[in-house]
Amino acid sequence: MNAPQHYDVIIIGGSYGGMAAGMALGRALRRVLIIDAGLPSNRMTPHSHNFLTHDGATPGEIARIAREQLMAYATVETVKDVAVHAERTSAGFQIETMCGNMFTATKLVFATGITDIMMNIEGFKECWGRSVLHCPYCHGYEVRQHRTGVIANGTSGFEYVLLIANWTSTLTLFTNGASTLTDEQTGECRSRGIEIVETPITSIEHTNGQVRGLVLEDGDHVDVDVVYAKCAFEQHCIIPAMLGCEHDADGYISVDARQHTSIEGVYACGDNTSPMRTVANAVASGTATGMHVNKELVMQGYVRLAT
Ligand SMILES: Cc1cc2nc3c(=O)[nH]c(=O)nc-3n(C[C@H](O)[C@H](O)[C@H](O)COP(=O)(O)OP(=O)(O)OC[C@H]3O[C@@H](n4cnc5c(N)ncnc54)[C@H](O)[C@@H]3O)c2cc1C
Repeated sequence: MNAPQHYDVIIIGGSYGGMAAGMALGRALRRVLIIDAGLPSNRMTPHSHNFLTHDGATPGEIARIAREQLMAYATVETVKDVAVHAERTSAGFQIETMCGNMFTATKLVFATGITDIMMNIEGFKECWGRSVLHCPYCHGYEVRQHRTGVIANGTSGFEYVLLIANWTSTLTLFTNGASTLTDEQTGECRSRGIEIVETPITSIEHTNGQVRGLVLEDGDHVDVDVVYAKCAFEQHCIIPAMLGCEHDADGYISVDARQHTSIEGVYACGDNTSPMRTVANAVASGTATGMHVNKELVMQGYVRLAT
């Protein structure tokens, strides 16, 4: 059997974070393989906002241009596949993919993103990314002063609804069951004109993913044009956990200022490490990761000279 192809760096996840890391490494003459399954978390949204030079572009168009520019670097390769297993070897790491391929690398980068766990409400999934939103900085401007519902609870829900009140004055907080806000938080919402509804939601009425209203367990119907929801999430890829990378209490992969995880030679960037969930942040942390990985390789004697 042939020995697996060896790379300086394997990047698992080739969306915004992974491609940014790949570009920094390609520009540093590194042999890089990007393994990407092609399922970025924003794929349901028709337009992406708040990323300079691409405001309002489709997520796919941003990725297409990035890929085109990345492919100009001859030492960067991409493959559409799913990494399913990783283990340490004497030369670094070995990665196995779903298609049965093996690759090895000196360093590993995880830019694997996170998966939103859809709320168990009929119609939720169909509206996600279109009119059920997660982030006012990404989509709030387009729905400013719309009739807005927020599905959230507790202290994080309180902070979330207060933030969204910056964009609309017609706002209802749906705690979807008994409210866990403190009396003080409830009073603060009321003083800002935010209504609180505790009755559980049974369904979201919509037309082709565009919210029309919320139907409650008691049969009531509340007209809203847009909904924000604070979904739980899980890591898209469990390989960092399998390798022993530490995670913080919220479920993000713990990294230091160099994007280095708790496992030697393993880095992570983008959504899987940070609640600052934007394309801009994924690109910034990916670029930084590429630079830090290259520096570590140089310091360890892996120098690549231009030919
Ligand atoms: C509905 C929605 C709308 C959004 N709108 C905006 C917006 O308007 N503006 C904005 O700035 N941000 C927006 N975001 C946030 C933005 O999408 C993320 O911050 C960004 O996608 C993070 O990039 P990433 O590279 O870290 O992860 P992702 O883009 O999620 O990419 C992760 C990649 O890793 C791949 N992968 C995972 N595991 C494996 C594996 N084992 N093997 C191979 N590949 C793997 C996935 O298939 C995917 O391609 C939105 C998010 C959502 C959910």
